[in-house]
Formats: sequence, C-alpha cells, structure tokens
Amino acid sequence: MSTRSLGIDIGGTQLRAALIDTHGRVLSRDRRPTPADDPGLLVRTLLEVIRSAWERTGERVPVGVGIAGLVTVDGTVRYGPNIGIRDLPLATLLGEELDAEVVVANDASVAALGEQRAGAGVDHADLVLVTIGTGVGGGVVIGGRLLTGTTGFGGELGHVIVNEGGRPCPCGNRGCVEAYASGSAIGALARDRLVDPMTVSRLRDLDRVAGPEVTAAAQDGDEVAIEVLEEVGHWLGVALASMVNVLDPELILLGGGAAAAAAPWMLEPARRTMTQRLVGSAWREAPDITLAVLGDDAGVVGAGLLALGAATVGGSGTA
Ligand SMILES: [Zn+2]
Repeated sequence: MSTRSLGIDIGGTQLRAALIDTHGRVLSRDRRPTPADDPGLLVRTLLEVIRSAWERTGERVPVGVGIAGLVTVDGTVRYGPNIGIRDLPLATLLGEELDAEVVVANDASVAALGEQRAGAGVDHADLVLVTIGTGVGGGVVIGGRLLTGTTGFGGELGHVIVNEGGRPCPCGNRGCVEAYASGSAIGALARDRLVDPMTVSRLRDLDRVAGPEVTAAAQDGDEVAIEVLEEVGHWLGVALASMVNVLDPELILLGGGAAAAAAPWMLEPARRTMTQRLVGSAWREAPDITLAVLGDDAGVVGAGLLALGAATVGGSGTA
C-alpha cells in the first residue's frame, strides 16, 4: 500500500499535478497548459506527467484525476466543454497504457473531498463545496464519502434552478444559480444595471465590466457594484437553502477565485437568504458558510486522496 499518490487536476487552461502524502500534504508539483480540443494530446500529456512522477519517486504511486465536466462513475468524460472533449474513456485509456488503475472524477467533486480531508472541512463528515469561478461547480461529501450519484453526475450544484425561466445558463437551461452567482454572472448583472442611463457608477467609465472590475469597484465603495454583489449573495442563498433542505450538511464551503473576491459583500446576504428560506428555519441552526482554504490545491489534493482509496468513485473499487 503506497503512502503517496499523484493527484492531477485538469482545468480549462491549466493542468496541475502534485505528489501528495496520505494527509493530503503536497510534496511536489508539476504544471502545464491544458491541451484543449485535442483528446489525443491530452492523453499523451497525462501519460508523460504520470510516467515522469513515477520515475522521480521510483514507485508506481496511485493516480487520481479530477477534470472539469460530466464524468461517469467508470471514469469516462461524457462532456467536457471547457476542454473540448466528448465521450473520452479517460480512466480506461490511461489504465490500459499504464497497466495500472487510474481514478477519474469531476474536478469540483474531488476538490470537495480535498477540502474535507485536508482543508477547511477537516472534522466535518458532511459538507458541500460550491466553487465560484467563471462558472459554478459543486461537490458533496456525506459521511466522509464523495457523493457521485448513480451515473457520476451528482453534485452539480451550479445548476440548481433558483429562478425558473430566468437568465440563460451556459448549460442550456434558464435560471440556474450559475447564471446569477458565477464570475461571469457578476459581470453580466453589473452590465444590465448600467443600461439605465440614470445609474451612477464608476463602472460606466470602464471598457470592460466583468467580475474582477465589479469587485474592485465595490472595494472603492461603488454602490452599484456593492448592490450587484449583494444580489449575487441573495441568489446564492436561494440555491444553498435548497441544497441544505436536501442534504442537511454540517458546513458549506465556498471555493474559487470569484468567491474569495466577492465574499466581503456576498457572504452575509447569502447567509441571510439561506437561513430565511430553510424549512423550519425558526427551529434549527443553519450550517455555517465559510471560504475554502486550499485554493488551487484542492483539486490535486482531492484527486490524490481519491486515488489512495479515500472514497469509491470513477473506476476504483476500493473504499
Ligand atoms: Zn445551468
């Protein structure tokens, strides 16, 4: 039984890898650009990263991969729009080439496991991680185990519908929380407010209004920017109330760059709205909402721990 593993996190732009120990501590790192729209090159790059780690350690350490997209329980990437892949049996392809078992799962799900085992969720067996970046991802850990659902597509918290028929979401539906509380949505909500010529805001003077410009303006006290981030918090709270009604977790973690940047204005409205909308809110304690702590390491740490048999998912049969 190995005491180290290789965790790999494949995002839209970066492919990160890290050798970790059984406590989820990072021992060494490797980082490359993600080859997009080229599944063959993606697989060759992964083989190179894995073989070079095996050479460096002198050991065929277990390998876990988190990837942005819909991943089946047997490690096939059904749909990965950010990386431009469809129906890629990644766990099988890597496993055959390497003659070793490789675990593949959704990136936000493995990040949730990383935070639960080695980050902000240590000592909490039940938690929900919502990652807020360009889009909104999610992962659920219940009883210390990753929730994958029957197909592997469970935990897609970004597509909880908070406003039926509302703003269009990149997934094709309308009214998902991703359409109201992602980094892209922060920019879009701000641009909508600027359509009214009476709106006074320093955002009006900028060529581009996206998430980072809105949080920077909020920092300078711009009221429109602050209102946008409070509105984002409200919609996030609506989604969190549904998640808590279903899952009743001990803790809710918010991860991703946009969450950290927007937190000073977003967190309180999210807490307030979530608490108000929980069933039986007068007779219960709402779970705490707090920021995740592992940052960009959450994915590699979770993927590595998954490979060490931390949970059953994505082609690994060991618990
Ligand atoms: Zn959606």
